[in-house]
Amino acid sequence: MVTRQFGHRARLALSPAEVLKTDDQAHAARTMWNLLHAWWQMMPKEKRTLANADAAIRQARKDIDFLAALPAQAAQAVLKTYFRAWKNCWDGRANAPDFKSRLRSVMSVDVPQGRDLNISRVHRRWGMANIPKIGRVRFRWTKHLPVGKHAGDGNRITGARLVKDALGWHLAFRVQTLGTRPEPHTGPEVGIDVGINVPLALSDGKTYEHDEWLTAKEKTRLLHLEQRAAQRKRHRRPGERTSRRLRRTYDRIAELRAKAKRRALDWQHKTTTTIARAYSTIVVEALTITNMVKSARGTTETPGKNVAQKSGLNRSINQEAWGRTVTLLTYKTAQHGGTLHKVPAPGTSQRCSACGLTTPGSRESQAVFVCKSPDCGWSGNADHNAARNVLHLYRMGLALIPAAGRAVVRRAKRVKPATAR
Ligand SMILES: [Zn+2]
Repeated sequence: MVTRQFGHRARLALSPAEVLKTDDQAHAARTMWNLLHAWWQMMPKEKRTLANADAAIRQARKDIDFLAALPAQAAQAVLKTYFRAWKNCWDGRANAPDFKSRLRSVMSVDVPQGRDLNISRVHRRWGMANIPKIGRVRFRWTKHLPVGKHAGDGNRITGARLVKDALGWHLAFRVQTLGTRPEPHTGPEVGIDVGINVPLALSDGKTYEHDEWLTAKEKTRLLHLEQRAAQRKRHRRPGERTSRRLRRTYDRIAELRAKAKRRALDWQHKTTTTIARAYSTIVVEALTITNMVKSARGTTETPGKNVAQKSGLNRSINQEAWGRTVTLLTYKTAQHGGTLHKVPAPGTSQRCSACGLTTPGSRESQAVFVCKSPDCGWSGNADHNAARNVLHLYRMGLALIPAAGRAVVRRAKRVKPATAR
């Protein structure tokens, strides 16, 4: 038996009054964080203890009226998150915690105890949950959650977090389930290429494509909104504050972008699940996307080559979010008993997958590959060719690091010295 922990985000249906209350809580949580950070910077090193911070928080809740909007447990969660942020910093996983600004930070409130939520399903599409100091609220039921008679030892909701994005308030559950270890997958092997004209091309000839994330009408609207925002910004006098109208336009733009992002994520989830179910071994290119994006522009001394084309490519890489696809595949293959491998990327799109030779001019265009080697002459889709190369590299034993299972296995960073064990 293996326990699995995952998150699930559900959309909340709040009344305008409840939205205001939740906003207040989130602002109070952010203020709490900022006060805590100020306290930390002020205190001498030896006095920065959890107990002292807790006392300071309790005092702040007494002294400042609007902090009382935040439930006591959520305030404790802020404290816990703050201390963990420092630990992450000292372990080299993150930057040092900083003040959270009103506009640039994500609004969120923690509900640390799962049982406080008292979740129940009231309809095929709706569930209800208790949120401290707000009351009982409805949320969209889109996934099986271990509540009521489905909850038991190992299967439960351990907590949740209220998160606000451009589409409104959501409830992000922390779910824990207990399942059987998957049997080793017996399906075929496959190589996958990140395509330029096809989002995902598989070595067995299959391709996964998607429609545009926004409809023509939505795109027109987005363009219109962006133009309007640009125009309003142009006519702003220096030092003038952002008008309420302009801010509303920004909100509309953010809404449309969030919609596109949500559709993209939905497609990625569906596709990666299908792939993880069908194949035992999945081989992908080890791309370093951040480097590719960085290298295009170059520096002022050594400007990059083909900047326009590359930045177009980068844009599409970012849009397709290859990194996220790999992350999803990593844990999904592990869940289905398969494995994910990464192979070094260079040359996979230039080499012929039939004869293995790299002949100049073989890649006729973005889409077409025709081998120019006199004895071969293989022709096909360029992305399909690259996917076949990726699988071939794995079969030759060139896999870099077994990526599968990395999502589950956590190695201790510091090993105790032998004497201390
Ligand atoms: Zn060839």
